[in-house]
Amino acid sequence: MRTRPSIGMKLTGWYAVCMAGALCMLGALAFFSMKHSIHATVDEQLQDRMNAVRQAVENSLRKGDVETLRSELDEDSELRPQTDLLQVWDDQRRLIYQSASLKSKGLPPPVAGVRAGTLWMGKVPVRVLQGTVALNGHPYYIQVAAPMDEFYEALERFLGRLLIFAPLALLLASALGYWISRKALAPVDQITQAAQQISAQNLSARLAVPRSGDELQRLTETLNQMLQRIEEALDRITRFSGDASHELRTPITVMRTRVELALRHPRTPGENQDTLEQLHSELIQASNLLDNLMLLARADSGAEQLRIAPANIEDALHEVLAQAAPLAGEKGVALHSALPGHAVWIAADRSMLQRLFLILIDNAVKYTPASGRVSVELTTMNGSATVSVKDTGIGIPEDELPRIFDRFYRVDKARTRQAGGAGLGLSIGRWIAEAHGGSIRVESRSGEGAKFEVVLPVA
Ligand code: ADP
Repeated sequence: MRTRPSIGMKLTGWYAVCMAGALCMLGALAFFSMKHSIHATVDEQLQDRMNAVRQAVENSLRKGDVETLRSELDEDSELRPQTDLLQVWDDQRRLIYQSASLKSKGLPPPVAGVRAGTLWMGKVPVRVLQGTVALNGHPYYIQVAAPMDEFYEALERFLGRLLIFAPLALLLASALGYWISRKALAPVDQITQAAQQISAQNLSARLAVPRSGDELQRLTETLNQMLQRIEEALDRITRFSGDASHELRTPITVMRTRVELALRHPRTPGENQDTLEQLHSELIQASNLLDNLMLLARADSGAEQLRIAPANIEDALHEVLAQAAPLAGEKGVALHSALPGHAVWIAADRSMLQRLFLILIDNAVKYTPASGRVSVELTTMNGSATVSVKDTGIGIPEDELPRIFDRFYRVDKARTRQAGGAGLGLSIGRWIAEAHGGSIRVESRSGEGAKFEVVLPVA
């Protein structure tokens, strides 16, 4: 697999690109503003010279005295023999004056509409300023110029240094950037190494939290919280599979003992029939248990899909009550119902809801002694339907209430095992209620009966 660059390398790369861009912009800005200010300074000096020449041209040519002008300008020019570049043209673009320093090579004739420009005289760059004087209806053109070679050499030197020092600065800044990013990301490497050491065998280990108050502290705290949740989930799964195998072992051991006893001695057909009936009842119990375990496992993995459709819960409750009536009758428990007498529609998986109602009614009958009473009620209010199952049975001690919805939890292990419960009914019930967007709650006291209430949103 191709190794990808680390975050440190990527950060440094981006930093170097930005830095290079900034340096280029800064260099170009410095170079052009330097050039611009040189031109501005030279233009200012040329403008002063232009004003003086214009004055002289006006004074002399108004009188038509070209010779005086020439000698005046020559005198002036002698004061700056190398640098005074000056030409005066008449309206026919004939040269009427040219300073001595321009004798070998003159400036090109004036171009209309141009005030300033830079041109090359041989190998020397010159800055030229052009002006017009109108006298007696005739325009005269003045050109003053200054050699720029020294300025441009200075500019070139500046550019040369920029091209050496800017890459050096870039290299230094990138190295520094890399060092800083390595230093900033070093704790991430430590966290990675520590996290690699944690496996299912030492899931209780936690990462050391740096007290830096920054993203790294939040990251380690979040990872630790995640580890906590994984540890709890793994604990739940381990406990669940332990409890499940324990619950399954009991009916299988009972069946095995019965079969072994039956095989050991010759038996009458009547005795064999008894054994088969006992085996049948154990098998039903084991298969119910397996059913419940499978449902919970599918619910946990999200594989259990509800078949939601419009369901009339009034009708669903009627069916469940009819199913539970023989059991209640057998036990001598009176089963009462208070249903609204009209359809109550909700979006639900009808068979799942019936399973939930049956769990509650079955429990109520199971934990209510003979001549007790179980009442089932359905009410609707504020967009929700409430099904309550109330009994006058043995009740649940208050301190046990928070745990009765836990898997495999039974208040009295010995008693309920006899009655056939594995402690999964209420946890399945709660899952069904919550999967429908509803909730389940219980009110009870030891010896004072119990009341379970399921609240479901109405479609
Ligand atoms: P089980 O299959 O053992 O009934 P449940 O999950 O349905 O398991 O119930 C958990 C425990 O809650 C039961 O073992 C019982 O102790 C208690 N319980 C449930 N319903 C009632 C009730 N109506 N009256 C008294 N105790 C109840």
